[in-house]
Amino acid sequence: MKSIKELYRIGTGPSSSHTMGPRKAAEIFLQRHPEAAAFKVTLYGSLAATGKGHMTNVAITDTLQPAAPVEIIWEPKIFLPFHPNGMKFVSLDAEGKETDTWTVFSVGGGALAEESDGVASVNTPDVYEMNHLTEILHWCERTGKSYWEYVKECEESDIWDYLAEVWETMKASVRRGLENEGVLPGPLNLRRKASTYYIRARGYKASLQSRGLVFAYALAVSEENAAGGTIVTAPTCGSCGVVPAVLYHLQQSREFSDIRIMRALATAGLIGNIVKQNASISGAEAGCQAEVGTACSMASAAANQLFGGSPAQIEYAAEMGLEHHLGMTCDPVCGLVQIPCIERNAYAAARALDANLYSSFTDGMHRVSFDKVVEVMKQTGNDLPSLYKETSEGGLAKDYKPM
Ligand code: SF4
Repeated sequence: MKSIKELYRIGTGPSSSHTMGPRKAAEIFLQRHPEAAAFKVTLYGSLAATGKGHMTNVAITDTLQPAAPVEIIWEPKIFLPFHPNGMKFVSLDAEGKETDTWTVFSVGGGALAEESDGVASVNTPDVYEMNHLTEILHWCERTGKSYWEYVKECEESDIWDYLAEVWETMKASVRRGLENEGVLPGPLNLRRKASTYYIRARGYKASLQSRGLVFAYALAVSEENAAGGTIVTAPTCGSCGVVPAVLYHLQQSREFSDIRIMRALATAGLIGNIVKQNASISGAEAGCQAEVGTACSMASAAANQLFGGSPAQIEYAAEMGLEHHLGMTCDPVCGLVQIPCIERNAYAAARALDANLYSSFTDGMHRVSFDKVVEVMKQTGNDLPSLYKETSEGGLAKDYKPM
């Protein structure tokens, strides 16, 4: 598996696969061809189907246009076999002759991959030897260590500085989201809700207040993402509200120190990485179970670790966070990361706290392992028809009419 730095990416919303990945691809292609007289970029499959709502074209033209004119070609009906988020970059000379072409895929969480004999090829090294949670759980039992210590052993020593930056960015996105009011960009005219939830929640008694606050924090980050604000992919932009909401809530209510939060982030990153390695964190590839389901799983494990869960209990919490999102489709209305995405983050954050609690009542023994659920999620994602995988042609996206 790659470094968890590739899972937690600091950047601007609204979509890691549809804006962060394409922007990065455009930057790479521009570096290769600063001399080009023009560019042609073809967007395929899901990138073309929901690219306008997700502002894929803006991410690409913002990057390439200062150097040379760009033509964007939309091909929503063509799905390249390797991955539904395909892009082809072409550079042209002054005579309009093609000088180079590059086909690349935005595979989720802002990551890019090229196809080489049907296998993803990315240029960064693997830093983890073990790719399954069961193996790492055995390692924990053998050594007496916890998951975050496995992260520490595998990553470079600057991982804690990186996670500190991630945590500061997450906190800032919660706080900004609680302050910002008004309407989110796009034709839905969706009003931001986080600030209202926050104020109302504070007026309630403890148990309801706790639930209301975690909703408010998740809404805050997801609304910031929808407005193109700075967030951290955890594991993607669309699902970026869940992990910060849970961790911010626990820090505020239980006074967990920053260092303990960073260790929880390390464990959550390991969980997300395992899903990314063995299944997918891309809504276009496997539906929303891969995005919000994974985020819930990460947050469940992080919360359980903070409350002193054993490695087996943490594994159980992670398993439930994902298991109970199996089959969840990706059907963003108007191709925007707003409905159902924003509310979905709030629900998943609350669910992560439930998964933590549920697991805390057990000894960690259970029948279906986290690794098994990851495998099932991948198969379920393969079985989902493409209209439920970020094409905005099915589900809520099909029937919804903007007011
Ligand atoms: S429905 Fe889920 S997977 Fe699809 S764009 Fe929204 S958050 Fe991402």
